[in-house]
Amino acid sequence: MPHYDVIVIGAGPAGLMAAGQAASLGKKVLLLEKMKAPGSKLLLTGKNRCNLTNTSPVQEALGHFNKGGRFLTQLFYRYYTDELREFFAELGLPTVVQRGGRVFPESEKARDVLEVLLSWIQNSGVDFITGTAVTDLIIRERKIHQIVTANRKFQASAVILATGGKAYPGTGSTGDGYAFARRAGHKIIPLRPALVPLITAGDTAQKLQGLSLKNITVNVWVNEKKLAHLFGEMMFTHFGLSGPVILTLSRQIVNYLQQGNQVEIKIDLKPALDHAALDARLLREIQSQGRKQFSSLLEGLLPKKLIPVCTEQTGIPRNKKLSQISSTERKQLRYWLKDDFKFLISGDKGFDQAIITTGGVDTSEVNPETMESKLIQGLYFAGEILDVDADTGGYNLQAAFSTGWAAGKAAGSI
Ligand SMILES: Cc1cc2nc3c(=O)[nH]c(=O)nc-3n(C[C@H](O)[C@H](O)[C@H](O)COP(=O)(O)OP(=O)(O)OC[C@H]3O[C@@H](n4cnc5c(N)ncnc54)[C@H](O)[C@@H]3O)c2cc1C
Repeated sequence: MPHYDVIVIGAGPAGLMAAGQAASLGKKVLLLEKMKAPGSKLLLTGKNRCNLTNTSPVQEALGHFNKGGRFLTQLFYRYYTDELREFFAELGLPTVVQRGGRVFPESEKARDVLEVLLSWIQNSGVDFITGTAVTDLIIRERKIHQIVTANRKFQASAVILATGGKAYPGTGSTGDGYAFARRAGHKIIPLRPALVPLITAGDTAQKLQGLSLKNITVNVWVNEKKLAHLFGEMMFTHFGLSGPVILTLSRQIVNYLQQGNQVEIKIDLKPALDHAALDARLLREIQSQGRKQFSSLLEGLLPKKLIPVCTEQTGIPRNKKLSQISSTERKQLRYWLKDDFKFLISGDKGFDQAIITTGGVDTSEVNPETMESKLIQGLYFAGEILDVDADTGGYNLQAAFSTGWAAGKAAGSI
């Protein structure tokens, strides 16, 4: 039976980084990937442009993670944006910083990221087998012993589980690693889709499909109490709501929904103006353009696609003369613009369309410096399999690369 110093399971960003690091330390490394083509999810990242990290300071970045990023604190002070960008620069892949500190390869091609990683592991001497799923880990006396595939067994001194989460299962991330970790005695924090589009009741979102709103505030109302809000950009789809603000808020919303709460999203279309300032603006425009129709006032306030929704929901006819708009109607419009443009959330798009999985291997059972299991000697974790997830912005890939780096270095040093 072939023996390796280190076997890495899963060739996503975490597994590729881990395998290359361990091999760079002179170890005999095997990387096993279930899919024929590795890195399918990496190719989809950042709309195929791969937002691989973020330049925000460590403390700020940690705030974008679940549990305040406690598990990653030490690690990010050792291996974060600068180190990752330097690593890629040395591999011949320069990076650029864009809006919000998001870092992309200069070529803006996720494929280039994958290709430099694949050449790097090849040059580092990693044995790489694709199209081979690991089906089990064999553990003896709380020590990793062998790994099993459909038709072979391999012996290993260390195994790094980098099988990813359950999001976008078509990419190969079907959650296999959770079962291995559970059988090894690890606690799995319940798994839920996050950074996931939301489904709305009714057909308003469908009518607005394709429309993006910028500089709006999304308010989340749970059982008629406002519990969260976020300023930014969102979009309407044929099933409901998506876009950056919605994806970020989805982590909390999915939780509220699963606890059986009623969740409503109310969109403040004019967050820069409070009620008094908005009223003064509406009054000024109504008085100065009395002969024009209500629809022409709306043209100055809203994207075209929203106008019929506004007239339908406020009940103010689009051809009504502005001089005939009553103060009650003006108030109704003001409330619609700030509070009453709302959507009842009926569900989420699930793991099939989630960008990330929340939950996973309980990090209290993993050494935060080495990523080694505290229960099984020689078993390491890296990437999304861990109970680590973050907002959009490059943080999830940074976490995959940082944990892969730490696991690869540690497993390569035993
Ligand atoms: C559409 C989309 C866009 C995204 N964009 C970004 C972005 O721009 N920036 C960002 O930071 N994050 C982004 N993410 C999240 C990011 O892709 C993940 O956080 C990251 O890929 C996790 O890396 P990983 O190596 O842990 O797991 P994965 O990338 O999921 O890789 C796991 C690998 O393990 C393999 N595997 C699974 N089971 C087995 C088995 N039994 N045997 C062998 N192999 C196995 C899988 O086939 C897979 O190749 C995006 C995610 C999606 C879905």
